[in-house]
Amino acid sequence: MWRRRQRPAGPAPQVIVVGAGFAGLAAVQELGRAGADVLLIDRNVYSTFQPLLYQVATGGLNAGDVSYPARAFTRRHHARFRLGEVTGVDPAAREVTLADGSRFGYDYVILATGVSAAYYGVTGAAEHSLGLYTRRDAVELRNHIMARLERLDIAGPGREISFTVVGGGATGVELAGALAELRSTALDAAFPEVDLASVHIRLVEQGPALLLPFEPPLREYARAELAARGVAVRLGETITEVRSDRVVLASGEELPSDVTIWAAGVTVPAAVAGWDLPQGPGGRILAAPDLRVRGQQRIFAAGDLVLPGEQPLPQLAQPALQTGRHAARQAARLAAGQVAEPFRYHDKGIMATIGRRSAVVELPHRIRVRGTLAWLAWLGLHLITLLGHRNRLSALLNLSWRYLTWGHGGGVIVGDDPLPFLTDTPVPMGRAVGAGPAAGPVTAGRGGPAGRQRSLR
Ligand SMILES: Cc1cc2nc3c(=O)[nH]c(=O)nc-3n(C[C@H](O)[C@H](O)[C@H](O)COP(=O)(O)OP(=O)(O)OC[C@H]3O[C@@H](n4cnc5c(N)ncnc54)[C@H](O)[C@@H]3O)c2cc1C
Repeated sequence: MWRRRQRPAGPAPQVIVVGAGFAGLAAVQELGRAGADVLLIDRNVYSTFQPLLYQVATGGLNAGDVSYPARAFTRRHHARFRLGEVTGVDPAAREVTLADGSRFGYDYVILATGVSAAYYGVTGAAEHSLGLYTRRDAVELRNHIMARLERLDIAGPGREISFTVVGGGATGVELAGALAELRSTALDAAFPEVDLASVHIRLVEQGPALLLPFEPPLREYARAELAARGVAVRLGETITEVRSDRVVLASGEELPSDVTIWAAGVTVPAAVAGWDLPQGPGGRILAAPDLRVRGQQRIFAAGDLVLPGEQPLPQLAQPALQTGRHAARQAARLAAGQVAEPFRYHDKGIMATIGRRSAVVELPHRIRVRGTLAWLAWLGLHLITLLGHRNRLSALLNLSWRYLTWGHGGGVIVGDDPLPFLTDTPVPMGRAVGAGPAAGPVTAGRGGPAGRQRSLR
C-alpha cells in the first residue's frame, strides 16, 4: 500500500497524462502520491496488458483478461479519467485538444501514447496484414485465424492454409510459438476434422537471427525450439510485398499466406507525429535527460514514445514504468520550485517465451536461464504484473486450461467470423495441396529481432 504524500503548499498542479498504458498508469500513481490534480486521457476506457495479447489472438485468453478499467485505476489514485483521442498539444496556450473539440488546460502534461506498427513502405503491408498492438487487434486476429480454420474444416481433406509472422523479435517469436501451440494442442479438440499437417506456420526475419537483443546461444535455442514445434523459420529474408493471399520476398519467391501478421517494427502513432515535437529514430519523441520534450518546459514524454538524452531505451514494460514514474516525479518537483533530475534506467533483465515449457531469460550479472524454469518465471511474472485480481485469476484459469488440459478442454475461445458469410460467399476455402507457391517457411521483417525483447518487471 502506498501512502498519499503531503500536498504541496498552494494550489495542486494540474497534470494531464495522455495514455493509460504502463507509463501513463505509473505516472498517475506517482502523481497521486504527490497530491497533484491529475487527469488521465485515453482513447479506450481500459488499459491493455500487451504482453499477453498473443494469447488472446490465439484463443487462449479472453480480451477482458488483459484489460483493466481506467476509471477503476484513477479512482484508486485520486485522479480523474476522460475518454478521448488527443489530437493536439498547444504549449503556448497550455492546452490539450481532443478529437471531439474539447480542450483541457494543464500546468504539466505527460505524453505516453505508446507506438503502433511501422510498415517501412512495404507494398500492401498495411492493407493485407494484421497487427498486434491493441486489444482490438488481438480480437480481430483471433477471429481471422479461427475463420480460416473453419473454412479449412469445411473444405475437407486436400486443402491447406498458411500463417506468416513477419519479424523475429520477441513479439514475432511468441506469436509464432503460440500459433504452433494452437496447432499442436487445441486444434485437435476445436477442429477434429482438420489435418494438422495442412496448417503451415512461418516466421520470416530479415536479420541473421531471432531475438537479437539476447545472447547468441539463447537466440539459437529459440530458433531450434520453434523449428521443433513445426514453425518454418526463414532468416535473412526480406518481404517486399504483402498480398491478400501471399507474401513476396526480395528474391522474387512468393509464399502463400492466408493470414499475415506484421510484427516487424514500430513507430509513433500518426497523430503524435503531427504534434510538431522533435522526433528521432523510429519517430520517437526526443527528450532531455529529465524526460522533458526537447525545447519544452512543461511537456514530458514517457514509455515507448520517448527517446531520452543519449539513452536508446528498449521499448518494453520496464522502461515504460520507470520513465512514467520519473516524469511524474519531475513534474511534482518543478511544481514545488525544485530542479528536475535526470532519468537513470535500472536494467532488470529481458525475457521471451516460445511456448509451453520453453522460454529464454537474461538477468543482470550474466544469469541466463532457458527451458522449463525460464517458462515458469515468464508465466509467474506475467500473471503477477497483470492488473487486477480478477484478471489474474481468470488468466490463471484460462492458461491452466490451455496448458494442463493439453487441448482436451474444448480447444479455444471462439469469436465472431469476420469473413463474408459462409453460405453466400466464394471466399477461398484454403488452397488445394500443392497449389500456388511452395508452402515453405518464412522470411524476415525490418527491425525484427531487435524490435522487442521482454524485460522483467
Ligand atoms: C504483442 C506485444 C507483446 C509484448 N510483450 C512484452 C513483454 O512480454 N514484456 C515487456 O516488457 N514488454 C512487452 N511488450 C512491450 C510493452 O507492452 C510496451 O513497451 C509497453 O506497453 C509500453 O507502454 P506505454 O505506456 O509506453 O504504451 P502503451 O502500453 O502502448 O499505452 C499507450 C496508451 O496510449 C493510448 N493512446 C495512444 N494514442 C492516444 C491518443 N492520441 N489519445 C489518447 N490515448 C492514446 C492507447 O490507447 C494506450 O492505452 C509487448 C508489446 C506487444 C505489442
